[in-house]
Amino acid sequence: MKRYFFPSTGNFYKANLHCHTTCSDGRMTPEQVKERYMSLGYSVIAYSDHNVMIDHSDLNEENFLALTAYEVDFITRDANPRWQANKLLHLNMISPKPNEDRVVSPQVNDKGEHRDVNSILPPMRYICNTTFVNKIIAAGADNGYLVTINHPTWSNLDYDDYKGLKRLWAMEINNGGCYAEGRADDPNVYNLMLRAMGTKLFAVGTDDNHNDLPQDHPEHHCGQAWINIRAEKLDYDTIFNALKNGDFYSSDGPEIYECYYDDEEDAVHVKCSPAQRVFVNSASISAPMATAKKIGETITEAVIPLNHFAVDFIRVTVEDNNRRMAHTNAIWL
Ligand SMILES: [Zn+2]
Ligand SMILES: [Zn+2]
Repeated sequence: MKRYFFPSTGNFYKANLHCHTTCSDGRMTPEQVKERYMSLGYSVIAYSDHNVMIDHSDLNEENFLALTAYEVDFITRDANPRWQANKLLHLNMISPKPNEDRVVSPQVNDKGEHRDVNSILPPMRYICNTTFVNKIIAAGADNGYLVTINHPTWSNLDYDDYKGLKRLWAMEINNGGCYAEGRADDPNVYNLMLRAMGTKLFAVGTDDNHNDLPQDHPEHHCGQAWINIRAEKLDYDTIFNALKNGDFYSSDGPEIYECYYDDEEDAVHVKCSPAQRVFVNSASISAPMATAKKIGETITEAVIPLNHFAVDFIRVTVEDNNRRMAHTNAIWL
């Protein structure tokens, strides 16, 4: 049986699921973000300003869809000692409905004040420990939000900090803003987290864009990392459900056109843009791969026998000659 890493039919929609605007600390207005990203070939933006959730459906048009989202920032004050050493924890919440007006929980500031919003949980001081973070994730998940743990490298999170988290929808494995600031994520955290959680978890590339620098500036944030969603059409329900199902792959360059695991052959089949190598990760120590014959040459198709090496899960990475990478989500064996 063929097990596809994302659907074999449908349209691809390029998406940035982590975005800041002048509604929080971003430099571009929501309209300017839409304009810039449409010029870069994107169809979907999740507007995820810090601690404020705004419906931007007024920006929607035939080739553009705004998703309603926000980023929860946990503070490290009052936290257990492990969290006080320059650590942060940020979660993205993507709403199942465009007009959602409930945040999972408003934060309380130093004066005990909070924003007057509808919320799922009572206002509370946000602290960083696994029990508290799991409470916020569970409240989001119970209400249909897709919850992502953001930029684990930039946040200085160690394995011990995230291994106990439950019910996450995805993990950022490539955050373009952090890359531009010299704090790039390491895709290996995805392997660690899959092994720790032992359950379905998706991987996303995002921009976390804050600045408005032009595309030829070395520190620009826009269009650094993204996901390609495969879905039949561009509307809120269809795209939300495709995300929920993991019908996408992430990238900062290469494209993957088709990718499946044939369990009778015990082999992975891939069609992709020109790649130097394609490799398969699992919970095992080895990573079978297909490569071009020489450095500088490329392949666009590969059949990679796994020879029964794979343990627990498999995920596929396509790497081009500039060491840019596309990653599928993991499927469980
Ligand atoms: Zn963040
Ligand atoms: Zn952010």
